[in-house]
Amino acid sequence: MVTNSKFSPELTSARLQKIFQHLLNVIGPRHWWPGDGALEIIIGAILTQNTAWKNVEKAISELKKRNLLSISALDAVELAELASVIRSSGYYNQKAKKIKHFIRYLIENYGGSLQEMEKVSVETLRQELLQINGIGAETADSILLYALNKPTFVIDAYTHRIFQRHQWTKGRVNYEELRQFFLQHLPQDLYVYNEFHALIDYVGHHFCRREPNCEICPLKNELPQQNQMKEES
Ligand code: SF4
Repeated sequence: MVTNSKFSPELTSARLQKIFQHLLNVIGPRHWWPGDGALEIIIGAILTQNTAWKNVEKAISELKKRNLLSISALDAVELAELASVIRSSGYYNQKAKKIKHFIRYLIENYGGSLQEMEKVSVETLRQELLQINGIGAETADSILLYALNKPTFVIDAYTHRIFQRHQWTKGRVNYEELRQFFLQHLPQDLYVYNEFHALIDYVGHHFCRREPNCEICPLKNELPQQNQMKEES
């Protein structure tokens, strides 16, 4: 295992797995990703950038209403029309371009077949996805893990925030360092990767907001000792 001095030695592999189990017991499985099939999950992963999930749901429902949620339809539709259909998701012009870029990549490299794409290794696919204009690391990992069942871990802003607040990281840690930390400290298990990220998102969304609500948070007992004492006093 690669040691990285940016991470607290107190957050061992055993402790990380215990935290996962605790969140799973207390919150329950999240059954991510919400979506009907791999293509819908991929489109959802692109649309969810910088917006609330309810706006994504509206956009996906509009795509379905217009029979646009297929690879051939997304390839054929005019960019301006696609942008207007997904308007509710915000940044719709950019997101329409991103969807088009992904669909072109899929057609040119895998004949438009997600099944063919799924046959390729996670490392190769990750490199390819990151080269698509508008697909960043979080979107690429979401596509790989949730749509294509590939072993990777998704990092989001909540993950960074929780690690900082618990002093599990020292100084600035980038996306890739945090992703590697999870991959190296968890068993290679798609279920764990899938549920753990979803549970972190749940904690971030419900408790670890800008103003943290530690008192009722399931990770309260994982706070550094001095913070726990402050909470109790
Ligand atoms: S205990 Fe507090 S700091 Fe930790 S995850 Fe929960 S809300 Fe955030």
